[in-house]
Amino acid sequence: MPHFMCVQCAVQFAASDSPPSSCPICSDPRQYVRWAGQAWTTMEELGRDHAVVLRDEDGILSIGVEPAFAIGQRALLAETADGNVLWDCVPLVSDEAVAALTARGKVKAIAISHPHFFSAIVEWSRAFGNIPVYIHEGNRPWVMRPDPAIVFWTGETKAILPDVTLIHCGGHFDGSSVCHWRRRDKSNVVLAGDTLQVVMDRKHVSFMYSYPNAVPLNARAVKCIAGALESFDYGQVYSAFWNMRILADGKGAVARSVERYLTAIAD
Ligand SMILES: [Zn+2]
Ligand SMILES: [Zn+2]
Repeated sequence: MPHFMCVQCAVQFAASDSPPSSCPICSDPRQYVRWAGQAWTTMEELGRDHAVVLRDEDGILSIGVEPAFAIGQRALLAETADGNVLWDCVPLVSDEAVAALTARGKVKAIAISHPHFFSAIVEWSRAFGNIPVYIHEGNRPWVMRPDPAIVFWTGETKAILPDVTLIHCGGHFDGSSVCHWRRRDKSNVVLAGDTLQVVMDRKHVSFMYSYPNAVPLNARAVKCIAGALESFDYGQVYSAFWNMRILADGKGAVARSVERYLTAIAD
């Protein structure tokens, strides 16, 4: 039985004879259903005319799918002395990409910011030998392909390697999380998904309940995100899409962005 994949958000579903009746992630106000209507594919079909691409983004390896598909998801590789973590995920797995990633060191875990990046998590876990996929408990209702490899974590932080800590922030989704990566020789990084979205000037971030439908977050949620990050040191912020990153004074940029945002939405 195939695992159907939503064409709009790339989430892969549990095996079924026929496509699901709808995609709950795209029916939610934080996404949208294609104007032409709900459509489905499979990873096998996607692999016929798409490829996994790996690219260096100022010292961090990025993994994407080309031509662009669904949300345009891209993953990032957090590389540490104790093993590597794939942060977020993409809808397609290829043998070449798995070999290229493995050549840089063992990928020990996958960690996911929120449901818009679930895509093909189970396929990637299997490709690396059933490694754990960390998803915050708050995002459990959105998992469309349950699997024993998925680890639902609770609480405010979870260290998954000595230099890699997941931080629960909430906001965009109840379980929205970021990844703090401590680097020995360079500045620390927050891999942010769209919990903090680096904006076009690449000097600020912004915060939205729905990005495609332009629904902002309220002040309380933004203050919670800021509070969750307060005790962490970091110089860089990499958010959800290709090239959207702040390379210096990331913590200062986030503080200024929070102030700017709260001023913008004040009465
Ligand atoms: Zn969808
Ligand atoms: Zn999102």
